[in-house]
Amino acid sequence: MYPKPLTYKKAKTLDEAFSMLSQNDDARVIAGGQSIMPMLKLRIASPSLLVDIAPIRELHEIRLDGNNLTIGAMVTHREIIESSEIGKNLPMLQETARHIADVQIRNRGTIGGSICEADPSADYAPTLLALDAKVVLKSSREERTVDLDDFIVGPFEVNINQGEILTSVIIPVNRSPYSVVKYARRSADFAVASMAAIVEKKPDGTITDIRVAVGAQSDRPLRMKELESLLKGQKPQKKDLYLEVDKAVEHLDPIDDIHGSAEYRKEVTANILKTNLGSLIFGGI
Ligand SMILES: Cc1cc2nc3c(=O)[nH]c(=O)nc-3n(C[C@H](O)[C@H](O)[C@H](O)COP(=O)(O)OP(=O)(O)OC[C@H]3O[C@@H](n4cnc5c(N)ncnc54)[C@H](O)[C@@H]3O)c2cc1C
Repeated sequence: MYPKPLTYKKAKTLDEAFSMLSQNDDARVIAGGQSIMPMLKLRIASPSLLVDIAPIRELHEIRLDGNNLTIGAMVTHREIIESSEIGKNLPMLQETARHIADVQIRNRGTIGGSICEADPSADYAPTLLALDAKVVLKSSREERTVDLDDFIVGPFEVNINQGEILTSVIIPVNRSPYSVVKYARRSADFAVASMAAIVEKKPDGTITDIRVAVGAQSDRPLRMKELESLLKGQKPQKKDLYLEVDKAVEHLDPIDDIHGSAEYRKEVTANILKTNLGSLIFGGI
């Protein structure tokens, strides 16, 4: 199927983009086009105007500001994989990008597009939630910075207003031991189950910081805050960890579809949490 007829415009600056977006109530931004192009072709989306933000230079920046890395919305998955700045300061994000889709999609797809698309099975969100990322949103009238946790509202739904553009993602530098796991049927598929975790501990094994997030949930990717608070400050035994993981996973609501039933996904999620949290917590003691 072909998209409905539409106007396509390239913006060279943010101001140009804001002015174009204000011309039509149903105008949409196109970044890497990897998600929106199929939506246009299937006529799930039919905007009358598509504003291409790829030429806007500032959206391509990767910048270290003190303890935060600012990544422009138009930075592609491939650029994340190849950036030495990201490798040094956010190795967990780089590892996450390596497992997104295939080479072609990694060459075109962007971090901003992936966040705004809010596919509950996408790979960045669990990692970015564990890293306490924030997103910067700009419009012709205002600029706001929002926790990613508040930006993702539900499946394919984010807290963005008409005319706003996500310009960058701000992520505190983090070089702590981490684990990122994507369980998929084939290498380029979306995740059937996924997790991202950061664990810091004292030499005696006491957990000083723990952040755990899971993806492929029917509503949205989420932080497992109760599990975190049960484990923080503790020196758990393996059996305690397994018990707490089983209890926490009972409260999850994974996607239930042809790629995996909710029951199956719960079991996989419990297994990857036990194995990978286990090696972060018990490795090296
Ligand atoms: C076959 C296939 C397999 C895939 N597999 C995976 C996978 O395994 N893991 C994974 O994580 N992802 C996967 N993806 C998604 C891919 O990572 C896309 O890059 C991503 O979803 C969208 O990024 P994009 O830059 O192409 O955005 P676009 O398609 O250009 O835009 C997506 C949406 O976000 C909006 N938007 C984009 N940028 C902005 C912005 N800066 N401000 C405001 N709104 C914006 C657009 O209006 C549109 O609604 C896959 C996609 C395809 C087609």
